[in-house]
Amino acid sequence: MKTGVTLLASGSNGNCIAVHANGNIILVDCGISLRMLRKRMKETGLDETQVRAILLTHEHSDHIGGVQNSVKHFGVPVFSNCGTAAALRKSVPEMMPPTIPTVGECFCLSGFSITPFHVEHDVETVGYTLAYESTKVGIATDMGRSTMASEFPLRDCNTLVLESNYDVNMLISSNRSWQLKTRICNGKGHLSNLQNSEMLPRLITPNTRNVILAHISHDCNKYDIALDTARATLSSLNRNDIFLDCGRREGPLPTVWV
Ligand SMILES: [Zn+2]
Ligand SMILES: [Zn+2]
Repeated sequence: MKTGVTLLASGSNGNCIAVHANGNIILVDCGISLRMLRKRMKETGLDETQVRAILLTHEHSDHIGGVQNSVKHFGVPVFSNCGTAAALRKSVPEMMPPTIPTVGECFCLSGFSITPFHVEHDVETVGYTLAYESTKVGIATDMGRSTMASEFPLRDCNTLVLESNYDVNMLISSNRSWQLKTRICNGKGHLSNLQNSEMLPRLITPNTRNVILAHISHDCNKYDIALDTARATLSSLNRNDIFLDCGRREGPLPTVWV
């Protein structure tokens, strides 16, 4: 059975990733409006009646902004960590509270074995691996730095969705305030192209088939720079066979399969 990964939206104006197999779709994050989500699912050939659950990584609005309306529309359960659940309780008290799985422990949902794992960020954040039969997908964005806690579960995934947020030179020379620049690169903000490439060799195994770069900054990065940096790393590992792409702000990416 094939497992598909569709980046419906990626970046600071909204994140949503569909992982799907055998007629079941799990959404990871829901940071775009329901209208845009439905439009992009249609564009990428995803059947919205197959959505089974929404997994949230953390409370920032680019990850949860559309969750209330989407939950109402799809009528599916939401899973999150404690911090995100508390933030939702405050901002949308009328929403049914999310289920809080234990970080590091696997739970089963519509045929997927899902494991949330700790990710370094400026609020309580998790990444997820989603295994379906012999396939495994790993997702980690909004990652200030790579740690053993995030790298261990991400190793050996067939499809990796990993943050490659900023180019260091573009961040330094950007018009952003010094405070914001520091927040991005202080180890609890976002992962740079170089940090991504430094981590990649430890995650790539013979089973790796797709690497998708995500959460690309609109003013401190360029798609080409992020892709060239990762491509050079894959080449140095003699892994030009791995499919490489990056999530775009302008629209969804075509589905990658394993
Ligand atoms: Zn984000
Ligand atoms: Zn964030």
